[in-house]
Amino acid sequence: MRILIVEDDPALADGLARSLTRAGYAVDCATDGAMANTLLQDAVYDLAILDLGLPKMDGTEILRRLRQRGGKTPVLVLTARDAVEDRVSGLDLGADDYMTQPFNLSELEARARALIRRGQLGSNTALACAKLMLDTAARRAYIEKTALDLSAREIGVLEVLMLRRHKVVSKEQIMEALCQWDKDIGGNAIEVYIHRLRKKLETSGVHIRTIRGLGYLLEEESHAA
Ligand code: CA
Repeated sequence: MRILIVEDDPALADGLARSLTRAGYAVDCATDGAMANTLLQDAVYDLAILDLGLPKMDGTEILRRLRQRGGKTPVLVLTARDAVEDRVSGLDLGADDYMTQPFNLSELEARARALIRRGQLGSNTALACAKLMLDTAARRAYIEKTALDLSAREIGVLEVLMLRRHKVVSKEQIMEALCQWDKDIGGNAIEVYIHRLRKKLETSGVHIRTIRGLGYLLEEESHAA
C-alpha cells in the first residue's frame, strides 16, 4: 500500500510519514504542489493525503487536475483551514474525506485505512458468502438480516478470510491485517478469534476450515462436506 503525503510543513510531513511508515505503508512525500502534481501523474498511489495551502500549486488545483484526468486515487484533504467553503469546494472537487488541524494521528490512520479499503473494493463495500454478509465500510456482519455481535478484531479476521475466500490464508497474513489494531498479536490470539468466529457463524452456511500447517480457508458449507 503506497501513500503520497502532500504537505509543505516539514515537521508535520515528517510526523505523518513516520507514523504511516510504522503502520506498514510505503510513503512518499511532496513538499510543494507542482511536485505533488507530477507524482500523482507518474505513480500509482492507494491514497493521497493532501494539504490545501501549498507553494507552487494549491491543493484544490492538484485535486481538480487529478480528477480531470480521471485519477481515482482516494484523497484525504488535510488542512489548517476550517472554513466551511473550503470543505465544500474540496468535496466538490472530488476529495473523499476531510480533516482539519489539529488532528489526532490515530484518527487519521483509521480514516486512511477506510479510504484505502474503499478504493480497493470500489463502490461495493459488501462481501457475501452463503447467508453471511460483511459490510466492510460499516464494519458490521449479518446472517441474513440479523446483525452479528463481532468485535473489531473478529471483523478484521473475517474480512481477510472473505476477501480471499476459497483460498488458504496464513496466520501471518491475518496477523498482518490485524496489526493495524494490535502491534504484537500472536498466533494463539488468531486461533482464539477463529474459534469465536466459528461459533458465531454456525448458522451462516459459512465454514472456516483449518488447513494444518498452512492456515485457514473460508468456504460455503456445501463445499466443506
Ligand atoms: Ca500548508
